[in-house]
Amino acid sequence: MQIQGTDRYWNPVLETLPRKKLRELQFKKFKRILEWGYNNSKLYRQIYDEAGFHPDDVKTWEDITKVPTLQKEHYRTAQAKEPWPYGDSLCVPPEKVTEYRQTSGTTGQPVYQPDTWQDWEWQSESWSYILWAQGFRNTDRVFIPFGYNVFTAYWNGHYAAEKVGCEVVPGGILNTEERLLKMKELRATAMMATPTYVLGMAETCRKKLEMDPKELSIDRVLCAGEPGASVPATKQRMEEAWGAKVYDHVGATEIGGWSYECTSQPGGLHVNEGFFLVELIDIETGEHIEEPNRTGKIVITTFDRLAQPCIRFDSKDVSMWGDFCECGRTYRVLKGGIQGRTDHITKVKGVLFSPVSVEEVVRSMPQLGDEYELIVYKKGDIDQVALKVELLPEAASQEEKVLHELNWQLRLKTNLAFKIEFHPFGSLPRYEVKARRFKDLRKE
Ligand SMILES: [Zn+2]
Repeated sequence: MQIQGTDRYWNPVLETLPRKKLRELQFKKFKRILEWGYNNSKLYRQIYDEAGFHPDDVKTWEDITKVPTLQKEHYRTAQAKEPWPYGDSLCVPPEKVTEYRQTSGTTGQPVYQPDTWQDWEWQSESWSYILWAQGFRNTDRVFIPFGYNVFTAYWNGHYAAEKVGCEVVPGGILNTEERLLKMKELRATAMMATPTYVLGMAETCRKKLEMDPKELSIDRVLCAGEPGASVPATKQRMEEAWGAKVYDHVGATEIGGWSYECTSQPGGLHVNEGFFLVELIDIETGEHIEEPNRTGKIVITTFDRLAQPCIRFDSKDVSMWGDFCECGRTYRVLKGGIQGRTDHITKVKGVLFSPVSVEEVVRSMPQLGDEYELIVYKKGDIDQVALKVELLPEAASQEEKVLHELNWQLRLKTNLAFKIEFHPFGSLPRYEVKARRFKDLRKE
């Protein structure tokens, strides 16, 4: 679908603001939230006072790098205090809080996320940019095959879809087959899910319902929660399975929905720069990276969320700037989306290794199923990487050929040798939400 003119943009003024003006706006908003945090949150006051930093120290754009970064651990420590459960991180009186969410806590104690009603309206608004850029309109019937609960997914997607005028069908408590049948019955045109589940639903549709997912009327899919929709081979698998356009978005409970792919699919994600400051930081020097194609750590500030502000949050994600997009938005693009996490990038045999690089190789091979598992372990003193893949039944005679090709591609991409295991199709674990395909047994 090609959308023309200003109908391309949810906010035609903000999304096409000249860079200089946009930066002035961001600087003003950054200063405002910095002062709000310092004046209202014991958490920020303590971090800044201990570092000998004061908001008045930020006089120029470059000074932003002087502001101490916020780590997830800071929230946990602050939230262990009274008033429960937000402790020192809450910036408004508790009676102003109207929404509760939490992080999934896969890497420790969950972080609790309060929002005021104003914050919640802001969430729907910032998510409207995402949906609008991906072509969601009032002609869409959006199915959400996901049970919303204490976690943030897909509350914002639901309310923003209503805000832009879509009709929304919550598919929460149903199982996968029931969801597929409901989507068919209602002729849903769009859905939101993790890449793992988008592929898993397609498999269930073919195997259990003996129906081609293309027979459903899905035109567009919004992905979240995993980097898959920005991995070209995974995106292609999803688009081919559903006969639909698949778009990525990245957000986080503590931050908000801060980036999105547009219908131009520029090979990366726009940063919603009117609402968020995304800095790419040189991991060694701590300085801003402004030029394209240089990898840095992503540090994010949310400008307008007040109950528990997010100021220079160390996201642990890495990426690089790309070129500006042909859609006309002046918002910068993160090339390839999130390219890995600083805590997943690990040294194997002295070589820096990012697990997401394996996904592109596995999913670009038509003889293999969607699932795989990656395990790093030690044999004696030597690091080993095992890759488990599923050979499709129709490719059973090609095991030798696939093994050779996989070895070659993986070596090219990662500089490492892998121990490859073939498993029967359907035998590796399937996941409904986020997959846990990478294990580093050296850390356990
Ligand atoms: Zn664009």
